[in-house]
This record gives sequence, C-alpha cells and structure tokens, in this order.
Amino acid sequence: MSTDPTTPPAAPTNFIHEIIDGHNASGRFGGKVHTRFPPEPNGYLHIGHAKSICLNFGIAKKYGGKCNLRFDDTNPTKEDIEYVNSIQEDVRWLGFEWDGLYYASDYFEQIYQWAELLIEKGKAYVDSSTLDEIREQRGTVTQPGIANQYRSRSVKENLDLFRRMRAGEFPDGAHVLRAKIDMAHTNMLLRDPVIYRIRHAHHHRTGDAWCLYPMYDFAHGYSDSIEGITHSICTLEFEIHRPLYDWLIEAVGIYHPQQIEFARLNLTYTVMSKRKLLELVEAKIVSGWDDPRMPTIAGIRRRGYTPAAMRDFCETIGVTRFNGMTDLVVLENAVRNDLNKSAPRVMGVLKPLKIVLTNYPEGQTEEFDCINNPEDPSAGSRKVPFSRELYIERDDFMEDPPKQFFRLAPGREVRLRWAYVIKCEEAVKDPATGEIVELRCTYDPETKGGNTPDGRKIKSTIHWVSAPHALSTEVRLYSPLFSVEDLASIPETEDWKTYLSPTSLVVIPDAKLEPSVKTQAVGYRCQFERLGYFCLDRDSTSEKLVFNRTVTLKDEWAKIQKKGG
Ligand code: ATP
Ligand code: MG
Repeated sequence: MSTDPTTPPAAPTNFIHEIIDGHNASGRFGGKVHTRFPPEPNGYLHIGHAKSICLNFGIAKKYGGKCNLRFDDTNPTKEDIEYVNSIQEDVRWLGFEWDGLYYASDYFEQIYQWAELLIEKGKAYVDSSTLDEIREQRGTVTQPGIANQYRSRSVKENLDLFRRMRAGEFPDGAHVLRAKIDMAHTNMLLRDPVIYRIRHAHHHRTGDAWCLYPMYDFAHGYSDSIEGITHSICTLEFEIHRPLYDWLIEAVGIYHPQQIEFARLNLTYTVMSKRKLLELVEAKIVSGWDDPRMPTIAGIRRRGYTPAAMRDFCETIGVTRFNGMTDLVVLENAVRNDLNKSAPRVMGVLKPLKIVLTNYPEGQTEEFDCINNPEDPSAGSRKVPFSRELYIERDDFMEDPPKQFFRLAPGREVRLRWAYVIKCEEAVKDPATGEIVELRCTYDPETKGGNTPDGRKIKSTIHWVSAPHALSTEVRLYSPLFSVEDLASIPETEDWKTYLSPTSLVVIPDAKLEPSVKTQAVGYRCQFERLGYFCLDRDSTSEKLVFNRTVTLKDEWAKIQKKGG
C-alpha cells in the first residue's frame, strides 16, 4: 500500500488524521503508520465494520503505511472458520488488501509468557474465588473493591498454580489469573481485572493445545505490540479500557502503540450487533447471513450494493468522537449515486396490466434502439422488441384520474418510452369482479421513437414490455427489517424481535422484463426504468430469474414514514 513518499499526504479529514500528523511531526513512531482491522471471527461483518475497515485501510493508504487483518480469536467457543473465510472475502470485496494476515491465537505462547512475567514481577496473581465472588468483591462506582486472601499469594505459589492451570489440572472456573493493579481504582476495569480463564474448549486454530485462554483486553494490546501497530483504532466504548491497555503494555515493558477511539456507526432501522444478527439467522427470521435485508456485507453485496458506494458512504459519514445515529437514507443515497452512473437501464413491469394496440398489425414485431445509460454514453444501446400486446405498470393507468395524474386514462395519450404515443380507448373489466384486466389502445404510427411531428404535447412517458417477448421473473422487494427507528430505544425488558417489520420482504412472483436481461450473470445490476435498481440473485435458475431490489429510485421510505403509513 505504499504511495510515493515524496508527495506529502493530503490534508487531514478527521481527528485521527490530525493525531497521526502530530505523531509524524514529533517523530513518536519514526514516521511509521501501521493500523489493523481486528474482527472477532464470531459472525459475519456488518456495515459498522465497513466503517472501521475504510478507516483503518484508508489511513494506511493515505500515509503510505500498512494495515493488517488480525483475527481476535481468543474466545474458542463462539468462533468458526466459516466466519474467518467470510471476513476475508468481505474485506477484499470492499476493495482492500491487508499487508499482514494474523491471528491473536498465533501469539498465545508469547502472551502466556508475558503473563508469567507479570506474575514474576508481582503484578498478577491466581485467584481461586468463583466468578460471582470476584464480581461481589469488585465494589461499585461509589464503593472501592475489597482485596481477598488470594491477592497476597507468593510469586512462587502463583507461578506453580498458573503452570498447573495450563497443564490442565483444574476444571473450568477453578482459578483465574488477575492483574494486580488497584482494588480501589476509580476506573472499575482496573480493579484487578481477570486476564486468563480456564476453558477446556477446542479452538478452531489451536485445537486442544490450550485449556486456558487470555481475555480480550489482555490479548489485544499485546497483539498490537507484537505486530508493531502504531495506531490501535477502536470504538468509543473502549475508551475506559485504554488505561488498562496502557498499564498491561507498560507492566511488561514492550513497544507501546497508541489506542485511539472513534464513535461507532449506528444506522436507523438497523441492528448492528453480531449477537443479534446471529439470533436472526438461527431463528430463521432471515434466510441466512447473506439475506439481502441483513446489514451484513454479505447481505448488502447480494442485494446489489457496490463496494464504491460503501466506501463513499463511509467517507460521507466521517469519523468523530460523538455517538449518534446515521439515517439509512444516507446509505441508500450513496448506493443510488453510484448505480445511477454505472447501472444500465432496462424496462421491467412489476405489476403488469396488459394492453392491446388494436390498430397495430397482428403478428408484427419491430425493434427499438434504447439507450443503455444516459449518464454514460459509452454504455451504448440495445434493441428492445415491440408488438401489438404489451404490459404496462398497473399504477400508470387510472380509470378516473385526479387532476395531477398525467399518465394513461380513458381517452388520454401517453408516450411509451422509445416507442410510440398511444391513446387509451377502452378499459376491459372482469364482469365478475369489476377489476380492469386489459386496456384497448391505439398507437399513432406518426410518433415512432416517441416524437410528435405535429408538436403536440405529451405530458408523460411510461415504461412497457412486449408481452410475447417478456421474461417472467421473480422480483424481491426489500424494505427495512425493523419498524422502529432507534433499536437502542427498545427497553431491555422487551424482545427487540417484536419490532420486526412484516413487510421487509415482498415477493412479486411474476414480473415482466424485457428479454435483454436473459443472458446476464448472477450479480448483474441494472435500473428498471422508473422503478429502482435491481440485482440478479443467486437463486436464479435457467427457468426463472430472480431479481433483488437494491434500492428504489427515490427515497420512498421516508415519504411513507412522514405520512405515518
Ligand atoms: P458487534 O458488537 O457488532 O459484535 P464487535 O465490536 O464485537 O461488533 P469486532 O469483531 O470486535 O465486533 O469488531 C472489529 C472491529 O470493528 C473493532 O475494531 C470494532 O471497534 C469495529 N466495529 C464494530 N462495530 C462497529 C460499528 N458499528 N461502527 C464502527 N466500527 C465498528
Ligand atoms: Mg467485539
């Protein structure tokens, strides 16, 4: 990731850049910049992680430094190789390549040795209390903790016990190793935190080599130090852990990275905790981690979001130290902006209403040249077939239209995109239900290409698909999984899953598309004109294509919310 060292980095755009500029000016890290992205492989990455990825890899790029991908795999029971693989795939999809790929578990031996060193220095002890006792003795915010009898164990006894813990002589929970800091510290995290616990559990990488595992706080800073990380960037809730991070590094006397905290991303209508996302997967509320409604990278990828849009989004929201809530609209706008530039247009009808052009010769077909992307002349054009029987969108017709409705109605004209001006002569109804089943229309042969040589004004242009040529497809329309804006506002006593929206997925089994999309591959993205951006799903078969709606053209969701409907 090196850039030309002779060009100075661009001006800082967030407070972390300013801190790094300060370190570079003072020479604190000798001008070196080395970050890392440290996920725990206990779930799939989500949009919040994308913020951290763009930040960490972005810093390395900006300063010509390095960024590692490190799996924080200190918790054997929740971690899995499936997650390790998906995380790598997702980071790459976002457009980043790590300099080093590491696992905290690779450092278990070194970290263990540092634990012994702490014991030898009188800075750690084996506590044989139960976890409940330890919790009780910790005190409260207003009351100091109490030192128990184990705190004064000799170095010799501590070392002996700790080595026997490693050798597997004790069951889970029999002892823990604690850092000996200060039981009366105002920061409760420094009241002799537990740094090792016994866990007879199989680890996805180290197998059964260990039956004792370091706590996250203990392993994290040491992993940073081993890798020569300069700026250890994490979210704001770790701010109160920083004194512990610093204490542990100083106590061992090793290279000292700088921890910096920033505000995590919270999105409206979205849960962003791996634990909760796992719950949705396990309860089969979604079809899997890559359900297109999930805020996971795998989910949004399948839905049709682009890596460029995600990077733009992360750029737009910026990096601050204030916890807040980002409107989902900001994310969707980033996706719209990107797809508007890159997605070819096609015509598709979601709620088909058949029309018959009574004066168009039966059996005749012609083809119109349709421009693929008005935003991108290099995208060229394609041929779209036209015939006597067509589908239009049901919503583009009203039998008894109000004044502001300029689309099709009895006796009215409308332009069919790229084709002809047509006029509605008659609406045919199902005699039993009264439902309109077909429109009888005439076309004006003088208006080929949609032009009116006589200069008459046609107020509206609608999309259409030739009925005999139409591809019948399934279309999946998505809206937010939750009906409540701020999920954190749900009280702990309530089940957050009761706020799931019943309409987050609406399936249209038989939408009609122009035939040009037939030969496209899974992942193909396009705009259905006037409807939104869509992406070909992996559930497509040779019999039936399946499209996911990535995002609507405009922010219809906000409109619905405002109306309270
Ligand atoms: P979750 O709470 O969703 O399970 P986590 O913080 O436990 O997330 P990790 O795997 O530990 O997940 O996170 C890896 C990195 O991503 C950490 O540095 C963490 O700070 C960052 N991160 C996680 N969630 C967010 C978020 N919502 N916004 C920004 N960064 C995040
Ligand atoms: Mg975590």
